[in-house]
Amino acid sequence: MNLVEQSSQTDRGLVLGGLSNFLIDGQWREPISGSAHEAINPANGEHLGNLGEATAAEVDAAVGAARRALDTPAWGQMLPNERARLLWAIADGIEANAAELSRLETLDQGQPLRVSAGMSVAGAAEHFRYFAGWCTKLDGRVPSVSRRDAMLYTQRVPVGVCGLITPWNFPLLIAAWKLAPALATGNTVVLKPAEQTSLTTLRLAEIMEEAGLPQGVLNVVTGAGATGRLITEHSGIDKVSFTGSTAVGREIVRASSGNLKRLSLELGGKAASIVCEDADLDKIIAKNIANVTNNSGQVCGALSRFYVHESIADEFIARAQEQLGSISVGNGLDEGIQMGPLNSFEHMERVDEMVQSALREGASAVLGGSRMGGDFAAGSFYPPTLLTGVTEQMAVARDEIFGPVMPIMTYTDEDEVIARVNDSEYGLSASVWTENLARGHRLAARISAGAVRVNTVSGLDPAAPWGGMRASGWGREMGAEALEAYTEVKATWIGLD
Ligand code: ADP
Repeated sequence: MNLVEQSSQTDRGLVLGGLSNFLIDGQWREPISGSAHEAINPANGEHLGNLGEATAAEVDAAVGAARRALDTPAWGQMLPNERARLLWAIADGIEANAAELSRLETLDQGQPLRVSAGMSVAGAAEHFRYFAGWCTKLDGRVPSVSRRDAMLYTQRVPVGVCGLITPWNFPLLIAAWKLAPALATGNTVVLKPAEQTSLTTLRLAEIMEEAGLPQGVLNVVTGAGATGRLITEHSGIDKVSFTGSTAVGREIVRASSGNLKRLSLELGGKAASIVCEDADLDKIIAKNIANVTNNSGQVCGALSRFYVHESIADEFIARAQEQLGSISVGNGLDEGIQMGPLNSFEHMERVDEMVQSALREGASAVLGGSRMGGDFAAGSFYPPTLLTGVTEQMAVARDEIFGPVMPIMTYTDEDEVIARVNDSEYGLSASVWTENLARGHRLAARISAGAVRVNTVSGLDPAAPWGGMRASGWGREMGAEALEAYTEVKATWIGLD
């Protein structure tokens, strides 16, 4: 029995309360596996819907559709300015449905509405707009070859079929920051969102179809690691772009070796915050706190180890405790909430275990330090937590936490702090806080990370390359660098005699 005979067809992807469908070759199809995963609201355990686990037959069908779409007149020969208009129309579609998308992201992921609306939905539209502009600017070169009988020109051509695998911390935003450059450069896509947070991706796919994306260009299947593996091992996929854990990143490197897929990997991070003795505490504490609590700390670039100069450590800790303690925690749909739950109980247990192990090893919780009870017990809430007496031997200072936890350490001089900051498996991002511009530049130059920020924590923008060194991954997403990640350079020689 083939796939079409096995599955009934519907015209929508997202089915709230029921079983959502896969988008394969321009049609929404019911998953063969039935309900394999449950979508749960992490604020209260409410059931939101069911998701299928794509089988090998379904991944094959999605890859086949994406391969065929590469060369169709509708996509392969679409003119650059037409593609730009299409990406722009997708951004318009996201904005026209912003209220629904933000609410859905908050329900499924847990992030407060101000984050889902201000960062996730607005950011997703911005990525499509930014890369819409690039469609008409993908120029090649005419290199100066030392030949009289020939000349050559280069072009940037699509890599082919891209397998995009996204995580559960910013489902909509990260899908957009992969889809926009992949499509701007003429690729086709098989996209798999995280099994915990698939709903906004399915809704985005509907919006993209409505905007006029040709059949087969975008295919979406749901499922967990097993489905991800079917994608990363598939010989019909030319490139994988993955955002997630370093452990899975390593597995993907191995799984993709069969046909030597191109890889973009955005993996874990352990961003350091270096607070110099001349930092302006009035300005910087709020920025540090906002960063630690943004999306409950479930951000790859979140500051998660603090090196505070010993001369100001007591004051820094006292002020951080006051501000962290005033953060309003609750259901992200409620007015005024600054921090929602963690994405799942399973993840909450991981965060708590990391905090408990630090406490067992001698750290102190000045604030927080255990899961929240009472009205919060129905959700996976973890309180803002301030840890002092932390050392680099503790996991909380070495490993990614992905929770609203501030582990504080102190330092004495610049050489020492740089050595400690760089002694990390990760190299994604870091922040330096100082009123001395020369010191800011000096320290920034010595930090080994993909993104360094002086007196700021913001750093995500469609125009800014994002990605890490060492175990934080391979390649860069966003900015002009993303165009390189989604294209191959092709050289064409022309004989002149
Ligand atoms: P986390 O550990 O933060 O939950 P993961 O790295 O496990 O994050 O998951 C990120 C994404 O990778 C999800 O979409 C998940 O389903 C997918 N995934 C998990 N395991 C694999 C695998 N072995 N191969 C490909 N994708 C995978």
